[in-house]
Amino acid sequence: MKIIIIGAGPAGVTAAETVRTFDRQAELIMLTDEPYLPYSPPAMADHFINGSNLHLWRSNDWPGETGVDYRQGVKVAAIEPGAHRVQLTSGETLSYDRLLIATGAHLYAPLAGADLPGIYNFKSLSAAEKLVSKVRTGQARSALIVGAGFIGMEIALLLSELGVTVTQVEMLDQVMATMLDADSAAIALTLMRLHGVDVQLNTKATAFVGNGTAQGIRLESGQVLEADLLIAATGVQPNLGLLQGSGIETSRGITVDACLRTNAPDIFAAGDCIETLDRVTGETFLHAIFPNAVEQGRVAGLNLAGYQVEYEGAERMNSLKHLGLPILAAGVKQGDQVLREQLGNNLRTIYLRDHHLVGFQLVGDISAAGVLHALMIQKSDISALENSLLNQNFGEGMVAWKAIRAYA
Ligand SMILES: Cc1cc2nc3c(=O)[nH]c(=O)nc-3n(C[C@H](O)[C@H](O)[C@H](O)COP(=O)(O)OP(=O)(O)OC[C@H]3O[C@@H](n4cnc5c(N)ncnc54)[C@H](O)[C@@H]3O)c2cc1C
Repeated sequence: MKIIIIGAGPAGVTAAETVRTFDRQAELIMLTDEPYLPYSPPAMADHFINGSNLHLWRSNDWPGETGVDYRQGVKVAAIEPGAHRVQLTSGETLSYDRLLIATGAHLYAPLAGADLPGIYNFKSLSAAEKLVSKVRTGQARSALIVGAGFIGMEIALLLSELGVTVTQVEMLDQVMATMLDADSAAIALTLMRLHGVDVQLNTKATAFVGNGTAQGIRLESGQVLEADLLIAATGVQPNLGLLQGSGIETSRGITVDACLRTNAPDIFAAGDCIETLDRVTGETFLHAIFPNAVEQGRVAGLNLAGYQVEYEGAERMNSLKHLGLPILAAGVKQGDQVLREQLGNNLRTIYLRDHHLVGFQLVGDISAAGVLHALMIQKSDISALENSLLNQNFGEGMVAWKAIRAYA
């Protein structure tokens, strides 16, 4: 069995390891356009802040130990499902028996001038290296970031840590609008400003401007802001370019069935490039987070190895580590009942729908995250527990255990 995996992110790597666990004989080829061994994007900021190498989440020997023919710096241009082969940008073609598409997502910058040279991002390790080297070589002392979503916040905190003067413009009236409710976002905003980041809300950038190279951003007001370093952190979109002409169905991401199989024979897909059901709300969604990519990689790997295993659905969850105060959000941020308690810097907000826990946001004390998460994914009626969800010790030791057992 010859299996090709496109992409060496968490989804591709987990799929390769899973196949190898169940099939010692399969020929495994992994193709990545990045010039690196597998890395973990969530750990990139730490790498640049404190030199930690935790982003290299697999050892240098990983390809040999896993028995993977690892080809870095190799880009897939097209897939030909009928012929069971992929075409590389080099012109070479490779045949497969089974294929996994784990191509992740790319920066999406819907602004005029976004294709000008001189615009940086933090979406991949190569992009992040270029950005940070501008700072390390003394070429950038000031930065302008468009977007205050999760990745924009990470970049702002990183650059401020590296001594750069950072201005961040956000068109919405809060930071991290996809992830945080207004109250949690207000705390995050205060902390960002304490870190020295000049976050400007309700400020829409309409274009990158410059003569041949981007030199500034134009705001909706007409004002042009300039800085040494211009960064787009305006969102991501699945990498689907290589599917053109393949007949593989897509919507916002690649469409897959319960076993993460595409509509093309012997082709599976996993990670940020797919669209899946949310296991809490049942809605179809792009869930671009690390744990989902890993679990989808595991399920895809089992199916690539010939088992018939269904995926339970994705989750929305994220946390911000570098603010100095942990912030963790999971599930949705709307409900027919909202439980909220703030004690100093600790804020706990829980969203219920029809007595089911559908989301929560924790700022400061995140000790209840485990049990709240368990209650959320179990999807049980928690009427009897509602009064204790805001207790400060809820989530600790036996309290948590009993709650889970009672509702298991
Ligand atoms: C800065 C940053 C911080 C993050 N922090 C968090 C966090 O704290 N928590 C969290 O849960 N998630 C976080 N994420 C999101 C998380 O990293 C992603 O959800 C996860 O990496 C997705 O894994 P993946 O394998 O689907 O795709 P990716 O990790 O994107 O890997 C896909 C790989 O495929 C390669 N590729 C694409 N097209 C081709 C092609 N045609 N040919 C060959 N190779 C190709 C890409 O270059 C890429 O290396 C963060 C992401 C970033 C960028």
